[in-house]
Amino acid sequence: MISSSIEKPLPTPTPTSRRFWEAACEKVLAIQRCSNCDRHIFYPRNRCPHCWSDRLDWVTASGDARLATFSVIHKPGHPAFAEETPYVVALVDLVEGPRMLTNLRVPIDLIQIGMLLIVSWEERGDFTLPVFRMKDETDGGSPA
Ligand SMILES: [Zn+2]
Repeated sequence: MISSSIEKPLPTPTPTSRRFWEAACEKVLAIQRCSNCDRHIFYPRNRCPHCWSDRLDWVTASGDARLATFSVIHKPGHPAFAEETPYVVALVDLVEGPRMLTNLRVPIDLIQIGMLLIVSWEERGDFTLPVFRMKDETDGGSPA
């Protein structure tokens, strides 16, 4: 297939985000927590966006989230994703607080705003990417 010769773009880790991508390779959802105001933040930053402290620690997020909003993509922004259309780009609210841009792996007719989700992992090249799927009773834990 012609489209399989087009490589999907990969993340470009920075010194600030490197820890996130290293954890993702171990299927760990690492986010930062401000030790000054106790809030969790994502995406990775050098200063807390709430109080401007630089006292940020890395912690492991539960992977539990709720769907905030989504968009079904029929015309991909990059040709490498053409064979995946339609696919779903979503904003999910982690139970720890931060909102994350991601992909949903949920059948489109089952998607509902506010639905419970859990992180899942997909390998791409040397990276492992967090996506979200429906949380069900086999996932354990307690919903937010
Ligand atoms: Zn803070």
